[in-house]
Amino acid sequence: MKRLLPFLLFAAATARAEWNAGVARVDITPTEPIWMAGYGNRTKPSEGVRQKIWVKALALDDGAGARAVLVTSDLLGFERDMAEIVTQRAKQKYGLERRQIAINSSHTHSGPVTGMVLRPAYPIGPEHEPAIQRYTTKLLDQVVDVIGAALEDLKPATLTFGQGNLGFATNRRRTVLRHQPGPVDQDVPVLAVKSGSATRAIVFGYACHATALSDYQINGDWPGFAQAAIEKDNPGATALFVTGAGADSNPLPRRTVELAEHYGMVTAEAVAQAMKGKMGTVNGPLRTAFDTIDLLFTDIPDRAELERRIATADPAAKRHAQFLLKRMTPSGKLWDRHPYPIQVWKLGDLKMIILGGELVVDYSLRLKAQYGWADTWVAGYSNDVFAYIPSVRVLKEGGYEGGGAMIPYGQPGPFHPAVEESIMDKIERLMKSLPARR
Ligand SMILES: [Zn+2]
Repeated sequence: MKRLLPFLLFAAATARAEWNAGVARVDITPTEPIWMAGYGNRTKPSEGVRQKIWVKALALDDGAGARAVLVTSDLLGFERDMAEIVTQRAKQKYGLERRQIAINSSHTHSGPVTGMVLRPAYPIGPEHEPAIQRYTTKLLDQVVDVIGAALEDLKPATLTFGQGNLGFATNRRRTVLRHQPGPVDQDVPVLAVKSGSATRAIVFGYACHATALSDYQINGDWPGFAQAAIEKDNPGATALFVTGAGADSNPLPRRTVELAEHYGMVTAEAVAQAMKGKMGTVNGPLRTAFDTIDLLFTDIPDRAELERRIATADPAAKRHAQFLLKRMTPSGKLWDRHPYPIQVWKLGDLKMIILGGELVVDYSLRLKAQYGWADTWVAGYSNDVFAYIPSVRVLKEGGYEGGGAMIPYGQPGPFHPAVEESIMDKIERLMKSLPARR
């Protein structure tokens, strides 16, 4: 029996995942004035840079052939067309499948407009289009390259996970509708990546809009300041921010640089306290799944209705009607559905549920109640930012998140009430498709 012991020890050691991790970053700060994303009331392009903005990538390999790359960005969001270009090129260059790449954005409202995201919101003149096109083309190259750089950086690593707490996210629907419930998600999930004693990456999340600032200086808003503060606290480490289900949360109060920096600082402190507390070891295996479901729109206008709106509506609704009219088929049809991206990653017991669009908080709270408060991480603003994603509650309450935001997003109408159950059902099916153990 004694002679078998070394073999048994070896078997036990290799049964655990032996992570390899790679980290990379690329500076995406605009080098010329460019229209800024997020608000419809800006009247001119950017006038300077308050803070550099970044795309960052974390590559993970579980030592048994499974890989994934998380991409985070100081941008309003990637739309489907942009994400497709990146993931198709990454497949050709690095052999990664769609399910192995997640692209999240901080949703900063102080970054550049990219592609066609939220286009009807902005009064952009044709003279401002070339800068947006130059920026978007370069950005897509940079994202593909940073994925490759993270893969090239793969080396043995340990992963730990814990959750901190933070309190500045405020349910913003209550600021105008004070009688309504004001749920928020104040968890700060933290994934720390170390090699030996060196911390190489800190991935953290929070469910809140990056809307502390609204001027003409490029910056990452509070998530940008948080990442910079975490990197200052942890020399040599890259901080990557993953936006949660913060569609109906704002950082309040807001609108001063001091407040944006303050929220960055307290976020960094929440991350530091989580890392000093009980961080659990993350074992493998790594499992990834990705699929889309069709979300249906309702109340889709016909040509006569759009022409009526162009004649009578306010400037934003008029831009929306013009946007739709240009995209109408010769027979007068608009699209009636959108392919909604749903991605699930399992890192051992840690579940990352990575969803598209501006996700309201109800999804996060419901998913954590269903799959576990301690080890479920819900991200919104991933892979395709094309609309707000209301729960049935928010859809029924109405307002901006319930349907009004389809105007700036250029979608034909509000979602069908099946939206919430369709998403929950698909997540459940993807979860079940991933075996937790080898
Ligand atoms: Zn938003």
